[in-house]
Amino acid sequence: MLIVMRHGAPEEDISRVAATIEEMGYQARAMPGKQRTTVGLVGNDGRVDGSRLAALPGVQEIIHVTKPYKQVSREWKAETTVVRLRNGLTVGGDEVVVMAGPCSVESEQQILEAARAVREAGATVLRAGAYKPRSSPYSFQGLGRAGLELLARAREETGLLIVTEAMDAEEMDFVAETADIIQIGARNMQNYSLLKRAGRLGKPILLKRGLSATIQELLLSAEYILAAGNPNVILCERGVRGFDPATRNIFDLSAIAVVHGLSHLPIIADPSHGTGHRDMVIPMARAAVAAGADGLLVEVHPSPDRALSDGAQSLYPEQFDRMMKEARLIAEAIGRRVAEPAEIRA
Ligand code: PEP
Ligand code: MN
Repeated sequence: MLIVMRHGAPEEDISRVAATIEEMGYQARAMPGKQRTTVGLVGNDGRVDGSRLAALPGVQEIIHVTKPYKQVSREWKAETTVVRLRNGLTVGGDEVVVMAGPCSVESEQQILEAARAVREAGATVLRAGAYKPRSSPYSFQGLGRAGLELLARAREETGLLIVTEAMDAEEMDFVAETADIIQIGARNMQNYSLLKRAGRLGKPILLKRGLSATIQELLLSAEYILAAGNPNVILCERGVRGFDPATRNIFDLSAIAVVHGLSHLPIIADPSHGTGHRDMVIPMARAAVAAGADGLLVEVHPSPDRALSDGAQSLYPEQFDRMMKEARLIAEAIGRRVAEPAEIRA
């Protein structure tokens, strides 16, 4: 439920509303806006009788949020959330942020080569996993903490920001120390204790859509993170499981428009896991930018044939360079721009 205050309502009226909400056994979230302050009521499971609040001085109207997710909905907050990253980068504004790099950190040489190549082509965030959720326990599981150290080295050399996955709560703090954005992967989208943990961190969270999650389930998972106190969530469409082996997943482009309608959170697209084949990645990356994606997450490897994970869907550096050029043109055509590395932006 949202309690909309009158324009210019004094602080004491707002505090009284918040205190009354607490007295009723819920939590209050005051949200000052350009025109007026809104106070959100959270912690309820079902409809709350708002008549007591409606009668308080300074209250203009009571809005019942109709969706099962509350704080992530557009009903709750009409303006799009702009997630601010280090270096002045933003996700959710005019910029389209490209996050690129190999599936996994494999060695110092591999990650540095990959970082230099994606930086050269104009990416602003380096993606690579140190902890890898693999279908088989015999597949490469990632370098763990050593991988995080290599990512920190790559950041030091290139100035790129780092997005990397936290797979479990025990390693979350180590990941948070290195990562500028913490990825929660598709398989963990409904790991609610991990989501709550992510909600208690100050760092931006990249939440990927589950293998067969509906958009409502994705938004409810994001709600866990906001409800625990972290508003900096970036959603990611990465395809859902389908019936056709022609592609690894069914890349759901429409999810970008659907999410933008239902939620104020930014959403980026991952055409690499979405398609599973490098030749399909560039057309789908173009389409995602055209559809309004707030960023791209793309796998790029200096030698994809030797990759320890997801080689078939990893772009060669020269393909990535072409993708960036095309993405810039498309972004411009819809009044946006691809974010450029710091010194180019300055
Ligand atoms: C990844 O980003 O490498 C990854 C494992 O993705 P997902 O969780 O979407 O499968
Ligand atoms: Mn991968």
